[in-house]
Amino acid sequence: MMDYSMSERLVRQRLRDNKGRAYCADCMAKDLGRSPDELKAAIESLAVRERFMAAPCACGAPGLIYRW
Ligand SMILES: [Zn+2]
Repeated sequence: MMDYSMSERLVRQRLRDNKGRAYCADCMAKDLGRSPDELKAAIESLAVRERFMAAPCACGAPGLIYRW
């Protein structure tokens, strides 16, 4: 099990590397070979930070996108 700071780093990096694409926890977990539960908390807390905003994932689930 990853600790929180590690999953947050992973999520942030993934979104930066894929600017313009929104990810939900399930799709990002699938891409990274992780469990969605590990990423969910990080995605939710980054959603209220600068540079990140909530946006629908390609699969239709609520997700997160890197803003600029
Ligand atoms: Zn998705």
